[in-house]
Amino acid sequence: MFDVDVNVKARMLTQSSAAMTSPRTAHLAKSADAPPASPGPAPKRGLSYPLHEQLPAVGAAIEVAPGVFWLRMGLPFALNHINLWLLRDRLPHPTQLGAWQDGWTAVDCGVDNPATRQAWLQVEQEVLQGLPILRVLVTHMHPDHMGLAHWLCERWQAPLWMSTSEYQSAMLACSGLSNFGGDPTVQFFAAHGWNRPEDLAVVKSRVGYYTGMVPQVPGAYVRLMAGAQVRIGERNWQCIAGYGHSPEHMALYEAQGALLISGDMLLPSISTNVSVYAMEPEGNPLQHFLDSLDRMQHLPDETLVLPSHGRPFRGAVTRIAQLRQHHAERLDELVQACSQQDLSAHDVLPLIFKRALDVHQTTFAMGEAVAHLNLLWLSGQLLRQRGADGIYRFRRSQSSARPMGD
Ligand SMILES: [Zn+2]
Repeated sequence: MFDVDVNVKARMLTQSSAAMTSPRTAHLAKSADAPPASPGPAPKRGLSYPLHEQLPAVGAAIEVAPGVFWLRMGLPFALNHINLWLLRDRLPHPTQLGAWQDGWTAVDCGVDNPATRQAWLQVEQEVLQGLPILRVLVTHMHPDHMGLAHWLCERWQAPLWMSTSEYQSAMLACSGLSNFGGDPTVQFFAAHGWNRPEDLAVVKSRVGYYTGMVPQVPGAYVRLMAGAQVRIGERNWQCIAGYGHSPEHMALYEAQGALLISGDMLLPSISTNVSVYAMEPEGNPLQHFLDSLDRMQHLPDETLVLPSHGRPFRGAVTRIAQLRQHHAERLDELVQACSQQDLSAHDVLPLIFKRALDVHQTTFAMGEAVAHLNLLWLSGQLLRQRGADGIYRFRRSQSSARPMGD
């Protein structure tokens, strides 16, 4: 539920990814400025990028609003960067009653590898102004966000702030219970039509993926909950829960300054990965994701969105409309295709993904395909039947009522 994340994004950034090896190039700006992938009526207003082509160098920061700093760290994927945020903070001193301590809250961490540790050490020298990190807040458990949380928390004796589902999922994934490989994942994919033995052997052997980038999870945390207010320095941030991408993602909205730290729930130029996994095979993450967008629909136009990938932008409502349209078109194509013949998730991959996929890419593509099909099945637009060969296939329903069972 993590690799999928970055690699689907990587797929969608294919054209610009080769040019993005240097964070200081303007190529990312070009990719983010590209027209939205979704065809159809143009939105009334496009997105705007108030920082233009500026990107923070590794180990350096750009102040995007008073006390809000943008960091950019490398990732070992085709999607080669993640944005992190440093917020000026002030908390009661832990040992001196009545005194205050100035410092920072770090939002998200990067993966645990030597390059990212080195980048953080550079940030310590060049950005932190001699002040400590007082807490580490993580939007969700995916390794590009969670990887170095244990190291930062330990280094600064800072608590981890996170939602409970994300924290517990990270703990489980860290202990080897993940959805990324092994027998349950093989069985899940096979039941959805992907049954090439040599491919599935690769999937079966894929263990240790999460722990390779998140070797540890801090032993304790402070719970973030939907709707809660978190005071960070001079600003009050409201937690906005998001579902469908990860178990209980927390975005942060600061009304007075019109800032949204959107995490992976709202990205300017790529669409958030939404996948079904073996652990919850009848899940409906795409519906959850679309419902979650409702919670960001009310944001004022001037809101500066600080996403985990791509550049800060304005135009959240436009972006949400684009994403809705993108998914509506995919869903419509699938309904049409399933009215011609019964199709499995593996059968529809070429419809959703227009280029050849290798085994690694197929793992995330399958999750996304099942997410689209499950939405249509659970809303009664498609019927699902398991064949004698053990494979689920979907067919257009003539009625709108949800069938009982398969
Ligand atoms: Zn993610």
